[in-house]
Amino acid sequence: MNIHERYGLTRVINARGTFTPLGVSRSSERVAKTVAQALGEFFIIEELQSLVSQAAVDLAGGEAAAVTHCVSAATTIAVAAAMAGSDPKKVAALPDASGMPDRVVLPAGHAVDYGHPNTTDIRLAGAFPVLAGSEAMCSTRDLEAALAHERTACLLLVSSRLTTGSPVDLREAVAAAHRRNVPAIIDAAAQGMRMDALLSTGADAVLFSAQKYLASPTAGLIIGRAEFVRDCRVQERGIGRAMKPTKEAILGVLAAIEDRRDLEPAAWREAQARKVAWFVDRVKHVSSVTASEVPDPSGMPFSRVRLTVRAEGEGWNAAVLAARLRSETPPIWVMEHGAGEGHLFLELVPLDDAELEVIADRLTHCAAGRSAAAPLPN
Ligand SMILES: *Cc1c(COP(=O)(O)O)cnc(C)c1O
Repeated sequence: MNIHERYGLTRVINARGTFTPLGVSRSSERVAKTVAQALGEFFIIEELQSLVSQAAVDLAGGEAAAVTHCVSAATTIAVAAAMAGSDPKKVAALPDASGMPDRVVLPAGHAVDYGHPNTTDIRLAGAFPVLAGSEAMCSTRDLEAALAHERTACLLLVSSRLTTGSPVDLREAVAAAHRRNVPAIIDAAAQGMRMDALLSTGADAVLFSAQKYLASPTAGLIIGRAEFVRDCRVQERGIGRAMKPTKEAILGVLAAIEDRRDLEPAAWREAQARKVAWFVDRVKHVSSVTASEVPDPSGMPFSRVRLTVRAEGEGWNAAVLAARLRSETPPIWVMEHGAGEGHLFLELVPLDDAELEVIADRLTHCAAGRSAAAPLPN
């Protein structure tokens, strides 16, 4: 009996990407076996952290790495590190930030909500967010103005499709912070296939969700400057206690890094492109829906499927299609952020051929039945 049957759980087809409420990613056999073995054993955790540090640096660059519970935790910990450094008294005092720099500058368009506002991660450290520029635009000048204050602890940048406004040049923003001797942190949680590109910005720390594109158990990876990463680790004796990684997560990350090392990038990209092309071709005759291939908007090395729904009369548009896809068995989840403009997006990366068939069949069926639109369950 599989785990869904054993516990009576809903089997879901996840075309929504690395989405936390659906369990984020599928881990490999290697990761699963490593985690299972780890659970039954004792370890010197310091050895595990050192192993991942070396493996992450070999894979992605930077000088050192540390594992935390997740990227939300990593953000709070990195902000706290920028505030307290390696001073044990300050580490123990946080989140009481008296006498410490406590302003965290971020471009206004980088104040994002990935399930909760990332400004909450900042406040948890005892700091407060200072938004630079406007949601539409944050220039280097805007950043410089916000950074020019003696209580500035760090600059926080976000590399994600969730940011708004004209793109901020990360390399220039990092340089602006460094001109003021302010450390720069980049939240790149879902950018785990562009790790070296983000580290090459010169940021003091780049944060990656290991459970997203590395497909490990839930964990955050802080990669960057050795001294800064060390200051992050010191937070384990402060607010970081509640944000610690488990032994199985650290070893799972190690196995996931080994998977990535073995991955043949060209063959992987080709396999993803084939899936997308197959799907677009398979649904080309579906009435009132046009499928096309579009590049990932955040620069990740794969495409997505875009479904453009032609609203033809009452009760039929992109939001209705998304609700239909989700309301039948098994529920199919897609990205709905473009539904207002008539678009749904599907990320096919973790899906197998049988799942792609199910999605294509359901789409055909929903589109064919659109005129007989029955009221939907909420
Ligand atoms: C997913 C995500 C996070 C949160 O990562 P967790 O590891 O789930 O805490 C933070 N920032 C961005 C941009 C994300 O996409």
